[in-house]
Amino acid sequence: MSRIQLQSVSKKFGTTHAIHDVSLDIADGEFMVLLGPSGCGKSTLLRMVAGLTQPTSGRILLDDNDITSAPPRQRDLAMVFQSYALYPHLTVAKNIGFPLRTRKMARQSVADSVARVAALLDLTPLLARRPGELSGGQRQRVALARAMVRDPGAFLMDEPLSNLDAKLRSATRTELIELHHRIGSTFLYVTHDQVEAMTMASRIALMNDGRLEQVGTPTELYDTPRSTFVAGFLGAPPMNLLQADVVSRGGELYVEAPDFWVPLGISSAGVADRSVTVGIRPERIVLNLDGAGTPATVVTVENLGSEELVHVLVGPNALCARVSRPAGVRPGDTVHLGLDTSDIHLFDRDTGRRLVWQPEDAADLDTTARETSIPVLTS
Ligand code: ATP
Repeated sequence: MSRIQLQSVSKKFGTTHAIHDVSLDIADGEFMVLLGPSGCGKSTLLRMVAGLTQPTSGRILLDDNDITSAPPRQRDLAMVFQSYALYPHLTVAKNIGFPLRTRKMARQSVADSVARVAALLDLTPLLARRPGELSGGQRQRVALARAMVRDPGAFLMDEPLSNLDAKLRSATRTELIELHHRIGSTFLYVTHDQVEAMTMASRIALMNDGRLEQVGTPTELYDTPRSTFVAGFLGAPPMNLLQADVVSRGGELYVEAPDFWVPLGISSAGVADRSVTVGIRPERIVLNLDGAGTPATVVTVENLGSEELVHVLVGPNALCARVSRPAGVRPGDTVHLGLDTSDIHLFDRDTGRRLVWQPEDAADLDTTARETSIPVLTS
Protein backbone atom coordinates (compact mmCIF):
# COMPACT_ATOMS: atom_id res chain seq x y z
CA MET A 1 0.00 0.00 0.00
CA SER A 2 1.44 3.37 -0.92
CA ARG A 3 0.67 7.02 -1.12
CA ILE A 4 2.62 8.83 -3.84
CA GLN A 5 3.12 12.58 -3.70
CA LEU A 6 4.64 14.79 -6.35
CA GLN A 7 5.58 18.22 -5.03
CA SER A 8 6.33 20.97 -7.57
CA VAL A 9 8.10 18.53 -9.86
CA SER A 10 9.72 19.92 -13.02
CA LYS A 11 11.87 18.27 -15.68
CA LYS A 12 13.97 19.81 -18.40
CA PHE A 13 15.72 17.84 -21.14
CA GLY A 14 18.21 20.42 -22.41
CA THR A 15 15.99 23.21 -23.69
CA THR A 16 12.81 21.08 -23.65
CA HIS A 17 10.72 21.86 -20.58
CA ALA A 18 8.91 18.50 -20.41
CA ILE A 19 7.24 18.92 -16.97
CA HIS A 20 6.24 22.25 -15.40
CA ASP A 21 5.78 22.41 -11.66
CA VAL A 22 3.47 19.40 -11.24
CA SER A 23 1.99 18.66 -7.81
CA LEU A 24 -0.19 15.58 -7.40
CA ASP A 25 -1.24 13.59 -4.35
CA ILE A 26 -2.13 9.98 -5.15
CA ALA A 27 -3.92 8.31 -2.26
CA ASP A 28 -3.16 4.84 -1.03
CA GLY A 29 -5.16 2.34 -3.11
CA GLU A 30 -6.15 4.87 -5.74
CA PHE A 31 -6.23 4.08 -9.48
CA MET A 32 -4.77 7.31 -10.87
CA VAL A 33 -4.61 7.64 -14.64
CA LEU A 34 -2.22 10.11 -16.30
CA LEU A 35 -3.99 11.04 -19.52
CA GLY A 36 -3.09 13.39 -22.33
CA PRO A 37 -1.98 13.73 -25.92
CA SER A 38 1.32 12.44 -27.26
CA GLY A 39 4.30 14.37 -25.92
CA CYS A 40 2.46 16.01 -22.98
CA GLY A 41 4.85 14.44 -20.44
CA LYS A 42 2.94 11.40 -19.08
CA SER A 43 5.80 8.91 -19.44
CA THR A 44 8.34 11.38 -18.10
CA LEU A 45 6.24 11.88 -14.96
CA LEU A 46 5.84 8.11 -14.49
CA ARG A 47 9.54 7.49 -15.04
CA MET A 48 10.39 10.07 -12.39
CA VAL A 49 8.17 8.25 -9.89
CA ALA A 50 9.85 4.97 -10.89
CA GLY A 51 13.30 6.51 -10.44
CA LEU A 52 14.29 6.00 -14.08
CA THR A 53 14.46 9.76 -14.72
CA GLN A 54 15.68 12.35 -12.23
CA PRO A 55 13.53 15.50 -11.76
CA THR A 56 15.22 18.84 -12.41
CA SER A 57 13.46 20.23 -9.34
CA GLY A 58 10.77 19.26 -6.86
CA ARG A 59 10.26 16.28 -4.57
CA ILE A 60 8.67 12.83 -4.82
CA LEU A 61 7.41 11.16 -1.65
CA LEU A 62 6.38 7.56 -1.12
CA ASP A 63 4.42 7.11 2.10
CA ASP A 64 5.88 10.41 3.33
CA ASN A 65 9.48 9.31 2.65
CA ASP A 66 11.46 11.45 0.22
CA ILE A 67 12.49 9.12 -2.63
CA THR A 68 13.44 11.82 -5.13
CA SER A 69 17.02 10.58 -5.37
CA ALA A 70 16.49 6.94 -4.40
CA PRO A 71 17.48 4.36 -7.02
CA PRO A 72 14.59 2.38 -8.61
CA ARG A 73 15.40 -0.80 -6.66
CA GLN A 74 14.93 0.96 -3.35
CA ARG A 75 11.40 2.09 -4.24
CA ASP A 76 8.59 -0.24 -3.32
CA LEU A 77 7.14 0.09 -6.83
CA ALA A 78 6.73 -2.22 -9.83
CA MET A 79 6.65 -0.98 -13.39
CA VAL A 80 4.77 -2.58 -16.30
CA PHE A 81 5.79 -1.36 -19.76
CA GLN A 82 3.95 -1.33 -23.06
CA SER A 83 6.57 -3.67 -24.54
CA TYR A 84 6.16 -6.25 -21.70
CA ALA A 85 9.98 -6.58 -21.64
CA LEU A 86 9.89 -10.36 -21.03
CA TYR A 87 12.99 -12.54 -21.38
CA PRO A 88 12.34 -14.63 -24.54
CA HIS A 89 14.58 -17.55 -23.54
CA LEU A 90 13.00 -18.00 -20.09
CA THR A 91 9.76 -19.84 -19.36
CA VAL A 92 6.75 -17.98 -18.05
CA ALA A 93 7.49 -19.32 -14.55
CA LYS A 94 11.10 -18.11 -14.72
CA ASN A 95 10.02 -14.73 -16.08
CA ILE A 96 7.53 -14.25 -13.26
CA GLY A 97 10.00 -15.38 -10.60
CA PHE A 98 12.86 -13.26 -11.95
CA PRO A 99 12.51 -10.30 -9.54
CA LEU A 100 12.56 -12.71 -6.58
CA ARG A 101 15.59 -14.69 -7.79
CA THR A 102 17.58 -11.49 -8.22
CA ARG A 103 16.70 -10.75 -4.59
CA LYS A 104 18.15 -14.13 -3.65
CA MET A 105 14.89 -15.55 -2.32
CA ALA A 106 14.93 -19.28 -1.49
CA ARG A 107 13.96 -21.57 -4.39
CA GLN A 108 10.82 -22.97 -2.72
CA SER A 109 9.58 -19.50 -1.72
CA VAL A 110 10.05 -18.32 -5.31
CA ALA A 111 8.06 -21.32 -6.59
CA ASP A 112 5.27 -20.67 -4.08
CA SER A 113 5.03 -16.98 -4.95
CA VAL A 114 5.03 -17.71 -8.69
CA ALA A 115 2.26 -20.30 -8.25
CA ARG A 116 0.17 -17.86 -6.21
CA VAL A 117 0.40 -15.00 -8.71
CA ALA A 118 -0.01 -17.31 -11.73
CA ALA A 119 -3.23 -18.67 -10.24
CA LEU A 120 -4.50 -15.12 -9.63
CA LEU A 121 -3.96 -14.19 -13.29
CA ASP A 122 -5.01 -17.53 -14.86
CA LEU A 123 -1.49 -18.29 -16.00
CA THR A 124 -1.01 -21.69 -14.30
CA PRO A 125 -1.44 -23.76 -17.51
CA LEU A 126 1.10 -21.57 -19.30
CA LEU A 127 3.97 -21.66 -16.79
CA ALA A 128 6.18 -23.96 -18.87
CA ARG A 129 5.82 -21.98 -22.12
CA ARG A 130 8.14 -19.30 -23.44
CA PRO A 131 6.91 -15.76 -24.31
CA GLY A 132 7.08 -16.53 -28.06
CA GLU A 133 4.40 -19.19 -27.53
CA LEU A 134 1.91 -16.76 -25.95
CA SER A 135 -0.69 -14.33 -27.31
CA GLY A 136 -0.27 -10.59 -26.72
CA GLY A 137 -2.82 -10.62 -23.90
CA GLN A 138 -1.13 -13.58 -22.20
CA ARG A 139 2.27 -11.85 -22.45
CA GLN A 140 0.72 -8.75 -20.92
CA ARG A 141 -0.56 -10.86 -18.02
CA VAL A 142 2.90 -12.39 -17.53
CA ALA A 143 4.40 -8.90 -17.35
CA LEU A 144 1.77 -8.01 -14.77
CA ALA A 145 2.44 -11.20 -12.81
CA ARG A 146 6.14 -10.40 -12.74
CA ALA A 147 5.31 -6.97 -11.35
CA MET A 148 2.90 -8.43 -8.78
CA VAL A 149 5.13 -11.22 -7.50
CA ARG A 150 7.10 -8.89 -5.23
CA ASP A 151 3.89 -7.55 -3.69
CA PRO A 152 4.83 -3.94 -4.40
CA GLY A 153 3.13 -1.01 -2.71
CA ALA A 154 2.21 0.50 -6.07
CA PHE A 155 2.10 -0.40 -9.74
CA LEU A 156 3.34 2.00 -12.38
CA MET A 157 2.02 1.17 -15.84
CA ASP A 158 2.97 2.83 -19.11
CA GLU A 159 0.37 2.13 -21.83
CA PRO A 160 0.31 -1.59 -20.96
CA LEU A 161 -2.63 -2.35 -23.28
CA SER A 162 -1.56 -0.47 -26.38
CA ASN A 163 -0.17 -3.54 -28.19
CA LEU A 164 -3.43 -5.46 -27.86
CA ASP A 165 -6.23 -5.61 -30.41
CA ALA A 166 -9.53 -3.89 -29.56
CA LYS A 167 -11.29 -6.98 -28.19
CA LEU A 168 -8.40 -8.12 -26.02
CA ARG A 169 -7.86 -4.58 -24.85
CA SER A 170 -11.40 -4.34 -23.62
CA ALA A 171 -11.18 -7.74 -21.86
CA THR A 172 -7.84 -6.88 -20.24
CA ARG A 173 -9.22 -3.53 -19.13
CA THR A 174 -11.94 -5.35 -17.22
CA GLU A 175 -9.35 -7.72 -15.73
CA LEU A 176 -7.24 -4.80 -14.53
CA ILE A 177 -10.26 -3.14 -12.90
CA GLU A 178 -11.08 -6.40 -11.10
CA LEU A 179 -7.46 -6.90 -10.12
CA HIS A 180 -7.30 -3.42 -8.63
CA HIS A 181 -10.48 -4.09 -6.61
CA ARG A 182 -9.07 -7.40 -5.40
CA ILE A 183 -5.56 -6.35 -4.36
CA GLY A 184 -6.32 -2.74 -3.44
CA SER A 185 -2.84 -1.47 -4.37
CA THR A 186 -2.10 2.00 -5.69
CA PHE A 187 -2.05 2.13 -9.50
CA LEU A 188 -0.45 4.94 -11.51
CA TYR A 189 -1.36 4.30 -15.10
CA VAL A 190 -0.31 6.19 -18.24
CA THR A 191 -2.49 6.23 -21.33
CA HIS A 192 -3.58 8.51 -24.15
CA ASP A 193 -6.79 6.47 -24.52
CA GLN A 194 -9.72 8.29 -22.95
CA VAL A 195 -11.86 5.13 -22.80
CA GLU A 196 -9.21 3.44 -20.63
CA ALA A 197 -9.06 6.51 -18.44
CA MET A 198 -12.82 6.93 -18.09
CA THR A 199 -13.46 3.25 -17.32
CA MET A 200 -10.55 2.44 -15.01
CA ALA A 201 -9.59 5.58 -13.10
CA SER A 202 -10.61 6.54 -9.60
CA ARG A 203 -9.21 9.91 -10.68
CA ILE A 204 -7.75 11.22 -13.92
CA ALA A 205 -4.85 13.68 -14.10
CA LEU A 206 -5.23 15.22 -17.55
CA MET A 207 -1.96 16.69 -18.81
CA ASN A 208 -1.36 19.30 -21.47
CA ASP A 209 2.10 20.40 -22.55
CA GLY A 210 3.85 19.32 -19.33
CA ARG A 211 1.22 20.78 -17.00
CA LEU A 212 -1.74 19.33 -15.13
CA GLU A 213 -4.82 20.68 -16.85
CA GLN A 214 -7.37 19.10 -14.47
CA VAL A 215 -7.37 16.40 -11.81
CA GLY A 216 -10.64 14.76 -10.78
CA THR A 217 -12.95 11.81 -11.12
CA PRO A 218 -13.90 10.81 -14.67
CA THR A 219 -17.39 12.25 -14.03
CA GLU A 220 -15.98 15.59 -12.83
CA LEU A 221 -13.77 15.96 -15.89
CA TYR A 222 -16.54 14.97 -18.28
CA ASP A 223 -19.34 17.00 -16.70
CA THR A 224 -17.42 20.08 -15.55
CA PRO A 225 -14.31 20.46 -17.72
CA ARG A 226 -12.13 23.30 -16.43
CA SER A 227 -11.05 24.39 -19.87
CA THR A 228 -11.76 24.03 -23.56
CA PHE A 229 -8.75 21.69 -23.69
CA VAL A 230 -10.41 19.23 -21.29
CA ALA A 231 -13.79 19.69 -22.99
CA GLY A 232 -12.26 18.93 -26.37
CA PHE A 233 -10.13 16.00 -25.17
CA LEU A 234 -12.79 13.90 -23.44
CA GLY A 235 -15.74 12.53 -25.34
CA ALA A 236 -16.11 10.87 -28.72
CA PRO A 237 -17.00 12.92 -30.58
CA PRO A 238 -15.75 15.70 -28.31
CA MET A 239 -17.78 18.61 -27.00
CA ASN A 240 -18.97 21.05 -29.68
CA LEU A 241 -17.17 24.36 -29.15
CA LEU A 242 -18.27 27.55 -30.85
CA GLN A 243 -17.47 31.21 -30.55
CA ALA A 244 -20.29 33.27 -29.10
CA ASP A 245 -21.12 36.26 -26.91
CA VAL A 246 -22.94 36.54 -23.63
CA VAL A 247 -25.24 39.52 -23.97
CA SER A 248 -27.99 41.22 -22.01
CA ARG A 249 -31.51 41.24 -23.51
CA GLY A 250 -34.43 42.61 -21.52
CA GLY A 251 -32.71 42.08 -18.21
CA GLU A 252 -31.68 38.48 -18.93
CA LEU A 253 -28.44 36.96 -20.13
CA TYR A 254 -28.33 35.18 -23.48
CA VAL A 255 -25.66 33.27 -25.37
CA GLU A 256 -25.62 34.48 -28.93
CA ALA A 257 -23.85 33.36 -32.08
CA PRO A 258 -25.00 33.84 -35.70
CA ASP A 259 -28.48 32.22 -36.01
CA PHE A 260 -28.12 30.86 -32.47
CA TRP A 261 -29.31 32.21 -29.14
CA VAL A 262 -30.08 30.50 -25.85
CA PRO A 263 -31.32 32.16 -22.63
CA LEU A 264 -29.11 31.40 -19.63
CA GLY A 265 -31.87 31.93 -17.08
CA ILE A 266 -29.72 34.47 -15.23
CA SER A 267 -30.52 38.09 -14.53
CA SER A 268 -28.16 40.37 -16.40
CA ALA A 269 -28.16 43.06 -13.72
CA GLY A 270 -24.66 44.47 -13.47
CA VAL A 271 -23.16 41.88 -15.83
CA ALA A 272 -21.13 43.13 -18.77
CA ASP A 273 -21.35 41.56 -22.24
CA ARG A 274 -18.40 39.32 -23.01
CA SER A 275 -16.90 37.03 -25.64
CA VAL A 276 -17.09 33.36 -24.81
CA THR A 277 -16.63 29.88 -26.21
CA VAL A 278 -19.78 27.82 -25.80
CA GLY A 279 -19.56 24.08 -25.26
CA ILE A 280 -22.37 21.56 -25.86
CA ARG A 281 -21.96 17.78 -25.66
CA PRO A 282 -23.18 16.04 -28.85
CA GLU A 283 -25.40 13.68 -26.84
CA ARG A 284 -27.14 16.62 -25.16
CA ILE A 285 -28.52 18.01 -28.40
CA VAL A 286 -32.06 16.91 -29.19
CA LEU A 287 -33.19 16.96 -32.82
CA ASN A 288 -36.72 18.32 -32.90
CA LEU A 289 -38.59 17.65 -36.08
CA ASP A 290 -41.62 19.70 -34.96
CA GLY A 291 -40.10 23.15 -35.39
CA ALA A 292 -39.15 23.91 -31.76
CA GLY A 293 -35.60 25.10 -31.09
CA THR A 294 -32.69 26.51 -33.07
CA PRO A 295 -32.97 25.90 -36.85
CA ALA A 296 -30.06 23.96 -38.40
CA THR A 297 -29.24 22.34 -41.74
CA VAL A 298 -28.17 18.70 -41.84
CA VAL A 299 -24.81 18.26 -43.60
CA THR A 300 -24.01 14.56 -43.08
CA VAL A 301 -25.29 11.61 -41.07
CA GLU A 302 -22.89 8.94 -39.77
CA ASN A 303 -24.24 5.55 -38.79
CA LEU A 304 -22.47 4.19 -35.68
CA GLY A 305 -24.67 1.11 -35.46
CA SER A 306 -26.53 1.85 -32.27
CA GLU A 307 -26.57 5.63 -32.76
CA GLU A 308 -26.13 8.26 -35.43
CA LEU A 309 -23.92 11.32 -35.57
CA VAL A 310 -25.82 14.10 -37.27
CA HIS A 311 -23.56 16.94 -38.43
CA VAL A 312 -25.41 20.22 -38.87
CA LEU A 313 -24.71 23.85 -39.66
CA VAL A 314 -26.14 26.66 -37.54
CA GLY A 315 -25.27 29.79 -39.46
CA PRO A 316 -21.52 29.37 -40.12
CA ASN A 317 -21.00 27.03 -37.16
CA ALA A 318 -20.72 23.24 -37.50
CA LEU A 319 -22.25 21.18 -34.66
CA CYS A 320 -22.52 17.46 -34.11
CA ALA A 321 -25.49 15.74 -32.44
CA ARG A 322 -25.30 12.16 -31.20
CA VAL A 323 -28.80 10.68 -31.36
CA SER A 324 -30.47 7.28 -31.33
CA ARG A 325 -31.01 5.54 -34.62
CA PRO A 326 -32.74 6.19 -36.87
CA ALA A 327 -32.73 9.97 -36.61
CA GLY A 328 -34.89 10.08 -39.74
CA VAL A 329 -33.02 13.00 -41.30
CA ARG A 330 -30.98 13.41 -44.48
CA PRO A 331 -28.40 15.90 -45.75
CA GLY A 332 -30.13 19.13 -46.73
CA ASP A 333 -33.00 18.72 -44.22
CA THR A 334 -33.82 21.51 -41.81
CA VAL A 335 -34.01 20.36 -38.18
CA HIS A 336 -34.45 22.22 -34.92
CA LEU A 337 -32.00 21.76 -32.08
CA GLY A 338 -33.37 21.43 -28.58
CA LEU A 339 -30.82 22.65 -26.04
CA ASP A 340 -31.25 22.71 -22.29
CA THR A 341 -29.68 25.67 -20.55
CA SER A 342 -28.08 23.32 -18.01
CA ASP A 343 -26.18 21.62 -20.86
CA ILE A 344 -24.48 24.84 -21.94
CA HIS A 345 -20.83 25.15 -20.86
CA LEU A 346 -19.20 28.57 -21.01
CA PHE A 347 -15.49 29.26 -21.36
CA ASP A 348 -13.54 32.49 -21.53
CA ARG A 349 -12.80 33.10 -25.22
CA ASP A 350 -9.21 34.22 -24.58
CA THR A 351 -8.00 31.94 -21.79
CA GLY A 352 -10.21 28.90 -22.49
CA ARG A 353 -10.97 28.64 -18.75
CA ARG A 354 -14.42 27.55 -17.59
CA LEU A 355 -16.81 30.31 -16.54
CA VAL A 356 -19.32 29.77 -13.80
CA TRP A 357 -22.08 31.89 -12.53
CA GLN A 358 -20.81 32.84 -9.11
CA PRO A 359 -23.60 34.32 -7.05
CA GLU A 360 -23.12 36.95 -4.38
CA ASP A 361 -23.02 34.33 -1.64
CA ALA A 362 -19.89 32.83 -3.22
CA ALA A 363 -18.12 33.01 0.11
CA ASP A 364 -20.36 30.16 1.23
CA LEU A 365 -19.01 27.85 -1.47
CA ASP A 366 -16.52 25.27 -0.24
CA THR A 367 -12.86 25.89 -0.96
CA THR A 368 -12.64 23.56 -3.95
CA ALA A 369 -15.64 25.16 -5.59
CA ARG A 370 -14.16 28.61 -5.05
CA GLU A 371 -10.78 27.58 -6.43
CA THR A 372 -12.24 26.07 -9.56
CA SER A 373 -14.73 28.86 -10.08
CA ILE A 374 -13.94 31.82 -12.22
CA PRO A 375 -16.26 34.56 -11.09
CA VAL A 376 -16.56 36.46 -14.31
CA LEU A 377 -20.22 36.43 -15.04
CA THR A 378 -20.77 38.47 -11.94
CA SER A 379 -20.42 42.24 -11.89
P1 ATP B 1 3.59 9.63 -25.64
O1 ATP B 1 2.13 9.46 -25.32
O2 ATP B 1 3.83 9.95 -27.10
O3 ATP B 1 4.45 8.52 -25.12
P2 ATP B 1 4.20 11.36 -23.36
O4 ATP B 1 3.03 12.18 -22.95
O5 ATP B 1 4.49 10.14 -22.58
O6 ATP B 1 4.08 11.00 -24.91
P3 ATP B 1 6.92 12.09 -22.83
O7 ATP B 1 7.50 10.87 -23.45
O8 ATP B 1 6.93 12.17 -21.35
O9 ATP B 1 5.43 12.32 -23.37
O10 ATP B 1 7.68 13.36 -23.42
C1 ATP B 1 7.43 14.69 -22.97
C2 ATP B 1 8.36 15.64 -23.71
O11 ATP B 1 9.70 15.42 -23.30
C3 ATP B 1 8.34 15.47 -25.22
O12 ATP B 1 8.48 16.73 -25.80
C4 ATP B 1 9.57 14.62 -25.48
O13 ATP B 1 10.06 14.85 -26.77
C5 ATP B 1 10.52 15.09 -24.39
N1 ATP B 1 11.44 14.03 -23.96
C6 ATP B 1 11.11 12.88 -23.33
N2 ATP B 1 12.20 12.15 -23.04
C7 ATP B 1 13.26 12.86 -23.50
C8 ATP B 1 14.69 12.65 -23.49
N3 ATP B 1 15.23 11.58 -22.94
N4 ATP B 1 15.45 13.61 -24.07
C9 ATP B 1 14.91 14.72 -24.60
N5 ATP B 1 13.58 14.98 -24.62
C10 ATP B 1 12.77 14.07 -24.08
